[in-house]
Amino acid sequence: MITEIKNFNLKPFNTFGMDVTCNEWIEYTAPSDLYEISNRLESRQFKHIGAGSNILFTGDYHGTVIHSRILDVEYLPHDSQCVLIKAGAGIILDELIAQCAAAGLWGLENLSGIPGEVGASAIQNVGAYGTEAKDVIQSVECFDTVTRNFITFSCDDCKYGYRTSLFKHEENRNRYIVTHVTYRLSRASRPNLGYGNLEAELSGLTDITPMDVRNAVIAIRSRKLPDVETTGSAGSYFKNPVIDMDAYRDLCAKVYADSGCQTEVPHYPLGNKMKIPAAWLIDQSGLKGYKCGNAAIWHLQPLVIVNATGKATPQEIVAMEQKVITTVYTRLGIMLHPEVEHI
Ligand SMILES: Cc1cc2nc3c(=O)[nH]c(=O)nc-3n(C[C@H](O)[C@H](O)[C@H](O)COP(=O)(O)OP(=O)(O)OC[C@H]3O[C@@H](n4cnc5c(N)ncnc54)[C@H](O)[C@@H]3O)c2cc1C
Repeated sequence: MITEIKNFNLKPFNTFGMDVTCNEWIEYTAPSDLYEISNRLESRQFKHIGAGSNILFTGDYHGTVIHSRILDVEYLPHDSQCVLIKAGAGIILDELIAQCAAAGLWGLENLSGIPGEVGASAIQNVGAYGTEAKDVIQSVECFDTVTRNFITFSCDDCKYGYRTSLFKHEENRNRYIVTHVTYRLSRASRPNLGYGNLEAELSGLTDITPMDVRNAVIAIRSRKLPDVETTGSAGSYFKNPVIDMDAYRDLCAKVYADSGCQTEVPHYPLGNKMKIPAAWLIDQSGLKGYKCGNAAIWHLQPLVIVNATGKATPQEIVAMEQKVITTVYTRLGIMLHPEVEHI
């Protein structure tokens, strides 16, 4: 079934809570609806969204916004250890994870609490606490808006990388609409507790279940991330910059000169480059908790820009983004780039 509404308000469909509209809003419940929708879209500008938790509408959208309500879940026994779960793109990812954890299935529990829908998990390769969607994705079913046919991608076909995939490559942008994602989960116990303080959070528990891990992840997240139900944000706003060794040495020298002591610059080697946590750069630039108008840097996690009062405009969020970029660049010589997609 297809529902089309003109001049639709998108505020409930973006976690930043931007009060913006689109010319048309289309929701559909079955993959086959996409044939008809693609006819209607013929010459219209369009954007398919999920729960709007990684996007910033920078103003009213003069085109059609499409949203999936494909909500079926199919459990496909695979072998004695493994279960394949085929889930509709419109399902809230965290609700699926709760179901899988309750059924004692391992694989998705570290991704608990990430906002958004199943479809986007396969586009974004969402990740947290040492697990990425690609670790459990078996295949992704899509509608190709160019050939107007359905196509199934294996996990390898999706060319996953850090928060990226084939679907985000420039030449494919907006081409594929995800209709179903099949995840490969395990009945055998395989907790992945090596990241952050997950192990400490679970200390004292024996015979750990996926639900224990899920609860621990949610507890840790709630201590540092804003709750999207009460505070608008799109999670991590900036990418962690990857810089060459000369830039890394310059950064260490700058930090040393500024602080007058040997402050360690956190870094993660990546080939012959260094990945630097953007949160640390923002904190080091004195911006943690910074406020301007209705926008702010989240006081517990500087990587997150929030709609602090619920009344921020897209211009205020973009102004905060620019403030962070210029301050970090002026203070530390590192250019940050937004991870959040601007629409
Ligand atoms: C508080 C908070 C915490 C977060 N924490 C994390 C985290 O720990 N790890 C992490 O990886 N991310 C995190 N995020 C970011 C966000 O939750 C993920 O990127 C999520 O996958 C976005 O899902 P969505 O359904 O909201 O997609 P949207 O933001 O609506 O869309 C994201 C992209 O996917 C595309 N898309 C969505 N659905 C479809 C579809 N069916 N077919 C084709 N394209 C589609 C959109 O066009 C867009 O390009 C966080 C966000 C918030 C607000």
